[in-house]
Amino acid sequence: MIILFHTIMPATTYHTTVERIDVLSYNVRSFRLKLAQPFEFQAGQFVIINIPADLPGAPPDVRARAAQSGGGVVKRAYSIASPPHEANIVELCIQHVEHGIASTFFWQLKEGMPVSLSGPHGRFTLKEPLTYEPVFLATGTGVAPFRSMIKHLMHISFTNQMWLLFGCRYEHGLLYEGEFRAIASLRRNLRYIPTVSRPKEWLGETGHIQQTFLKHITDVSNKEIYLCGWSEVVKSVMTDLTAAGIPSARLHYEEWA
Ligand SMILES: Cc1cc2nc3c(=O)[nH]c(=O)nc-3n(C[C@H](O)[C@H](O)[C@H](O)COP(=O)(O)OP(=O)(O)OC[C@H]3O[C@@H](n4cnc5c(N)ncnc54)[C@H](O)[C@@H]3O)c2cc1C
Repeated sequence: MIILFHTIMPATTYHTTVERIDVLSYNVRSFRLKLAQPFEFQAGQFVIINIPADLPGAPPDVRARAAQSGGGVVKRAYSIASPPHEANIVELCIQHVEHGIASTFFWQLKEGMPVSLSGPHGRFTLKEPLTYEPVFLATGTGVAPFRSMIKHLMHISFTNQMWLLFGCRYEHGLLYEGEFRAIASLRRNLRYIPTVSRPKEWLGETGHIQQTFLKHITDVSNKEIYLCGWSEVVKSVMTDLTAAGIPSARLHYEEWA
């Protein structure tokens, strides 16, 4: 399922201000945007950021690419990492891409600056009714919709077991590590299992998240499995899980092309 956001129902445009920027890793930052009016969405949905194509201060090649966009605006989709109950807040978790248009825009932002967005978009939301055990598999910033879902499930006092399997290359690339560990120790129904594929001094799981999944999740009869991340990673995880006999009806995914 490649997300074609321009084909999904029209959404309202909102003006926001950057409330806070946090460094999450060497190449990922979180941007907490404050809206002046209420913004309703479901955990797992995404917004589209409207980036002014003139991009003052950007390198010439980035400005040239941005200038080619129609209407003077470049649009990029980002999953909402904050939960729906955080009133008037949209938090994004963004990986910096070298010479990326949106990356350049976001890395120039400062607290108090304006950002325009539209939304909410997307159908990658929790399957109802919530009678099952959700298993979330994320690589990198693909964890964003799952942070929203986990915080939402905690907010509604969901008591079933839930799992977060989070994969990244290096241990210093783990996102929201302290936060997920704190939730898992306070709320016994979250199992948080990070996996690092190129460990240096890491003592936890190593390899790829599909290996961690097959090691820890032996019975999928009462589970719904959600995957999110860059397309090639999601495809490879899907291939391995279906080859291992996981029914495709239990797999729900959002891949970023
Ligand atoms: C539904 C949806 C939700 C998304 N949610 C998020 C999110 O929560 N967080 C997030 O960080 N991104 C997310 N993305 C991806 C995001 O929309 C942008 O594609 C990404 O931020 C790069 O945009 P850019 O303008 O900086 O780079 P561009 O100017 O579009 O790209 C610059 C160059 O870098 C290449 N490139 C782009 N991304 C990568 C990459 N990761 N690694 C290597 N090369 C790359 C491009 O092919 C291009 O050559 C999402 C995408 C979709 C469709």
